[in-house]
Amino acid sequence: MSASQIQFADRISALPPYLFAELDKLRDAKRAEGVDVISLGIGDPDLPTPSPIVAELERAVRDPANHRYPEYYGLDELRAAIADWYARRFDVSLDPATEVVPLIGSKEGIAHLPLALINPGDTVLMTDPGYPVYAIGTMLAGGRSHMVPLTAENGWLPDLEAIPSDALEAAQLMWLCYPSNPTAAIAPFEFFEEAVAFARRHGLVLAQDAAYSEVTYDGTRCRSILEVPGASDVAVEFHSLSKTYNMTGWRIGWMVGNAEVVEALGRVKTNVDSGIFQAVQLAGIAALDVSQRWIDSRNAHLQRRRDLVLDALRASGLQPETPKASLYLWSPVPEGMTSVDFAHQLIESAGVIVTPGVGFGAGGEGYFRISLTTPDDRLQEALDRIAALSF
Ligand SMILES: *Cc1c(COP(=O)(O)O)cnc(C)c1O
Repeated sequence: MSASQIQFADRISALPPYLFAELDKLRDAKRAEGVDVISLGIGDPDLPTPSPIVAELERAVRDPANHRYPEYYGLDELRAAIADWYARRFDVSLDPATEVVPLIGSKEGIAHLPLALINPGDTVLMTDPGYPVYAIGTMLAGGRSHMVPLTAENGWLPDLEAIPSDALEAAQLMWLCYPSNPTAAIAPFEFFEEAVAFARRHGLVLAQDAAYSEVTYDGTRCRSILEVPGASDVAVEFHSLSKTYNMTGWRIGWMVGNAEVVEALGRVKTNVDSGIFQAVQLAGIAALDVSQRWIDSRNAHLQRRRDLVLDALRASGLQPETPKASLYLWSPVPEGMTSVDFAHQLIESAGVIVTPGVGFGAGGEGYFRISLTTPDDRLQEALDRIAALSF
């Protein structure tokens, strides 16, 4: 059978084209010309996972008991360790048996949650700009995405009262992501209170993606949406070891909160996957024991990078916002340029790759994102080149 005879599902053709394909092509062309291209595009920590976590994996991987199918709902010990972490970190009390579901990375659960909540044609509310997986999971479940615009003037927080009532009536689920990828904005606790009340009033499940809650600067401490009294009636929160402990490759995260939603996502998952490799679960338990001191010193390292990036961008005439959290800087492009124009120009003139804001939705137009996950020497080299430009 030739490829042309294969009939693909509509949902595959509806998947967004790989937005960065064109930039990748430009990068490859530059490399072929001999240009030393440096990417500041990808949000994937370059720093290593703490050694006690690696040591626990080494130990656990040698134990044949861990070579078999894991427990579907995660080891009791892992769910207990996650609940303990929530109690210590946020003073939020969770029942490990019913309010915690471990995930094979939080992206997996984010993509699967709509399968548990959405019927074809139902609406999911999410922000523009935003992390693309909220819309993709919605689309794979046959739902419709309603984009709620974010603006710098609103501190990159959605104006909930401005959501049109027809979208609201059709909606089952609303996504939030604070600290935000890509804008790096933090939600004040009052916004979480407002969002929980709003979800309650409109019969929505509220899903807050807290992937970056532990990657913070200038002494910032993020709060959990589950700290809002009664939040578990309507809310769930996603977290992941990926950004917290430099563990993106390990694939371990979780969703916590509303027990019915936890049960429903768990039911989808038991039918499509068989859980996290048990040795990784045991390493995850070790991760949740890593000291706050380690996190503070990792954050101090990233903060030094943040400050170098701010200085270089400002030296070139750009006006970046100062992030208090996340792995990203989010900056307006120069007047009169699109975000893709700017990204192209930076590759052409400096051999540096940044992410055009429009890659996170139309609302990201006019901005670009720089990731703080490039090794110090390469970052410095990229910044020297940027600082020599003038916008
Ligand atoms: C990185 C990221 C995640 C997912 O991380 P996992 O590695 O799948 O746990 C989730 N949400 C946002 C916004 C992210 O940037």
